[in-house]
Amino acid sequence: MRTDFDAIVVGGGPAGTSFARKAAEGGMNVLVIEKKKDFGVPVRCGEGFSERWNQVLEMNVSDADLGARMKGAAVFAPNGKKIVLVNDQTTGYVLERKMFDKRLALEAGRAGATLLPKSLAIGLVKEGNKTTGLRALHEGVEKVFKAPLIVSAEGMEAKIAREAGFDCKYDPYDVDACVEYEMVGVKCEPLIALWFGNEIAPRGYAWVFPKGVDYANVGIGVGGSTGADPKKLLDDFIGNHPEFFGDATVVEVKGGVISVGAPIKKMTSDGFMVIGTAAHQVDPIHGGGIGLAIEAGLIAAKHALKAFESGDYSDAALSGYEKEWRGLEEEKLGKRLKLRHVIEKLSDDDFNHVFNETRSKDLDEVLNGHFQGLAARIVLKRPSLLKVLKVLI
Ligand SMILES: Cc1cc2nc3c(=O)[nH]c(=O)nc-3n(C[C@H](O)[C@H](O)[C@H](O)COP(=O)(O)OP(=O)(O)OC[C@H]3O[C@@H](n4cnc5c(N)ncnc54)[C@H](O)[C@@H]3O)c2cc1C
Repeated sequence: MRTDFDAIVVGGGPAGTSFARKAAEGGMNVLVIEKKKDFGVPVRCGEGFSERWNQVLEMNVSDADLGARMKGAAVFAPNGKKIVLVNDQTTGYVLERKMFDKRLALEAGRAGATLLPKSLAIGLVKEGNKTTGLRALHEGVEKVFKAPLIVSAEGMEAKIAREAGFDCKYDPYDVDACVEYEMVGVKCEPLIALWFGNEIAPRGYAWVFPKGVDYANVGIGVGGSTGADPKKLLDDFIGNHPEFFGDATVVEVKGGVISVGAPIKKMTSDGFMVIGTAAHQVDPIHGGGIGLAIEAGLIAAKHALKAFESGDYSDAALSGYEKEWRGLEEEKLGKRLKLRHVIEKLSDDDFNHVFNETRSKDLDEVLNGHFQGLAARIVLKRPSLLKVLKVLI
């Protein structure tokens, strides 16, 4: 097996394999090092993927990638009030990531990338101050691979990116801790359903993402600094809703931790790029990161190809990736983070009041970062909320 490449990608999730495909299509010799023995397995995800991402990224999601198609979202207030929302951000898919991630890996392999599952990247290789490659344990045997460009697509762990000096550490306040069951026998509609409330999920939410008529991902995420136990809360949530889960049983247990904070401050350095969840490119409201990861992988590959053509892998040359990504996503994600900071200050009673004032059209506006109208209306009826909501007005 060759040991010299144009780029080495650490992590074979959606960010890493999307980068690898596009870079390989452009003529780069790319190696993807993935510690798991199969791409996409085990799954740590609710698997929701919007129609908007499907179109923007030209993913052509097909039945082979799927659990099920979604007709919209249903959002529940603590008192049970339900608002249904149908737009290109809420219609879409609940993927079968075991198939979807494998599809992305197959596409990268077909484009010419070398995939190395069951291989753990353990450290950087340096010549002086310059990073020239990576050490990896492949099936227990240490190997050295060389490349002028290392791409961290490591997800939440980001050990190699940290070793390279990137600030990928997490404050527990900026993560959600999640537990999820895949259940069969669930009574569900083809809607992404989200339940809010401090008793249900402190600083988070419960979800039901249907993968078929009687089959769904059922999960809970809680703020990492709340000290709440997501497994207990999930069991309580299921027990409190016999109308949905009375006849259901668990077929798979999943879970994990996901960033709901801001993206890292710097995403490139000489010969190094950080992409996807490793760069905290995740939506702070719902913890969705599949689309953002693929998008970052594709943008990073575009700029890596420029570096490949010019032979210049300096920070200045690679930083075009970060600039382009921030231009597309930073403002939107910043508004969502601001909204998260407001939502987490609401009591359940406040939340119920907000929902009473909210129509489906308002949620559309809020999702697109236009909070002023709704926030002003809410404050008019409950002035005590001015202190919390004024940042949105
Ligand atoms: C419980 C939960 C529910 C979620 N639900 C949704 C959802 O419904 N919709 C959505 O869009 N997003 C969701 N997300 C977020 C989504 O899963 C991630 O944002 C997405 O997978 C990010 O892709 P990535 O390629 O950046 O990282 P990952 O998919 O995390 O891939 C990183 C890969 O790197 C590998 N790796 C790490 N370190 C090393 C190493 N040293 N050597 C070799 N390999 C390494 C890992 O094994 C992994 O395969 C959820 C996350 C969690 C935890």
